[in-house]
Amino acid sequence: MASVRVAVRVRPMNRREKDLSAKCIIEMEGNKTTITNLKIPDGVTGDSVRERAKTFTYDFSYDSSDCKNASFVSQEKVFKDLGTDVLKAAFEGYNACIFAYGQTGSGKSHTMMGIPGDVGLIPRICEGLFSRISGMTRRDEASFRTEVSYLEIYNERVRDLLRRKMAKTYNLRVREHPKEGPYVEDLSKHLVQNYSDVEELMEAGNINRTTASTGMNDASSRSHAIFTINFTQAKFDAEMPSETVSKIHLVDLAGSERADATGATGVRLKEGGNINKSLVTLGNVISALADLSQEGGNSHLKKKQVFVPYRDSVLTWLLKDSLGGNSKTIMIATISPADVNYGETLSTLRYANRAK
Ligand code: ADP
Repeated sequence: MASVRVAVRVRPMNRREKDLSAKCIIEMEGNKTTITNLKIPDGVTGDSVRERAKTFTYDFSYDSSDCKNASFVSQEKVFKDLGTDVLKAAFEGYNACIFAYGQTGSGKSHTMMGIPGDVGLIPRICEGLFSRISGMTRRDEASFRTEVSYLEIYNERVRDLLRRKMAKTYNLRVREHPKEGPYVEDLSKHLVQNYSDVEELMEAGNINRTTASTGMNDASSRSHAIFTINFTQAKFDAEMPSETVSKIHLVDLAGSERADATGATGVRLKEGGNINKSLVTLGNVISALADLSQEGGNSHLKKKQVFVPYRDSVLTWLLKDSLGGNSKTIMIATISPADVNYGETLSTLRYANRAK
């Protein structure tokens, strides 16, 4: 079994791409995604580097584009496939993590947070959580405690997005508890009773997110945002009361584009460097996890030592107990359908491919 499940989602053309008369270069069929390099003439075959079309297979391919033959996959469908899986794992006592990876403007926030009237995975998962809780509480099956926190990692520094003014919010320390794993010291946790409690916190946190404008997209964020649901279930059915704790991390990663593509210099370039460090490490971690799970499936192979470099970045260290092992880990690679983004899209597809 693969330890990280991978989905790829292509968004509709945006205004800029339409103004440039961009062409669709992504095609999806079943779980296959094909990208075409229009600069290479049709019919030319040669070494793989010069191949006109490249095909990748992922666990899920979601065509939400407006290209020809697109089937327009909705937020609801993405939640049904991926979100319900995460909820199931959490109620069974496992940790889970969903992260969205892709270039700025490719649909990470849309997929994770969504827009009013068309909300994404995070709101849907929270709603799903509370509706399951109320069903089980009514039947007296268990009691629950749900706490959320929301942080961002910017330049390898952790910042609390839900702290009131005056309190220490910047540069929080990441520590490791011998039993409970990595955690952020002094990070605020907020007890929530229902979906509207969560909604309020989410809105406050989103307003707090660092948004530094780059040449490429003013509204884009250069930070990784992690929304965490800590979920405790206490059961009374047996003689012995039992308590299960699970964590769901929902991560909107910083744009994956290379610093040089945004015309960045100075401070911005430094940020780019650090952001890449987290994304590069995340890539190395998921690829090491893929190697580990392959070994599990091929017991006749000589066991080689696979080292998972969680400690190499703040992001992977914090997510350590939700990446691999018994946790449910899902990566969503978000891409543009347009030829003008060929290079970035191919690099996202390759990154996602390392998880297998
Ligand atoms: P990112 O978070 O990767 O920078 P966004 O999620 O902000 O990108 O998406 C950029 C724009 O494209 C937004 O206006 C968003 O609403 C739109 N968009 C992205 N994905 C989709 C989608 N699947 N369906 C419709 N619109 C989308």
